[in-house]
Amino acid sequence: MSDIVILRIGHRPQRDKRVTTHVALAARALGAKGIYVDTKDTVLEENIRSVVGRFGGDFFIETGVKWRKVVDDHDGTVVHLTMYGQRIDEALDKIPREGRMTLIVGAEKVPPEIYERADFNVSVGNQPHSEIAAAAIFLDRFTEGKTLYENRGGKMSVVPNERGKTVVDLS
Ligand code: SAM
Repeated sequence: MSDIVILRIGHRPQRDKRVTTHVALAARALGAKGIYVDTKDTVLEENIRSVVGRFGGDFFIETGVKWRKVVDDHDGTVVHLTMYGQRIDEALDKIPREGRMTLIVGAEKVPPEIYERADFNVSVGNQPHSEIAAAAIFLDRFTEGKTLYENRGGKMSVVPNERGKTVVDLS
């Protein structure tokens, strides 16, 4: 399975704080290794590291990065999620399963160079919706949900339950 990292473009710390937090948390839960965010946001970094500290795993976050550098410094496949892209059901079979994947999600308008640079511009339906939904659906289909209940070795873990809440707290 590919090592998947998210590249979040156009993050505006005040306006997008919850949405970018949720992109990161959904990506972590669905098997991504980490997230790069183009705008520096130390609060966002602290929030995500706090979740990782409690619930485990080694998901990373780095903010204030240049998108070109992230894309150019890493080998592998670049997938850009956009409502204008090719259909996800047609793209999935063509996207390599091994090596690294950089999965780009936008906030405000994405620079046109991204569409050119991406190996795959992929849509999750042809309606505008949400970067959280687009990333989650793409990752779930790409990984076939394999990481959803994976043991992250965290201080806290949630035990699936038909009713009620079971949380193991080793801290
Ligand atoms: N016009 C934008 C677009 O290109 O998809 C919608 C902007 S939306 C507020 C922010 C981000 O959500 C987009 O950059 C894209 O990554 C993701 N997104 C929204 N709708 C999508 C869809 N139908 N398919 C794939 N990604 C989508």
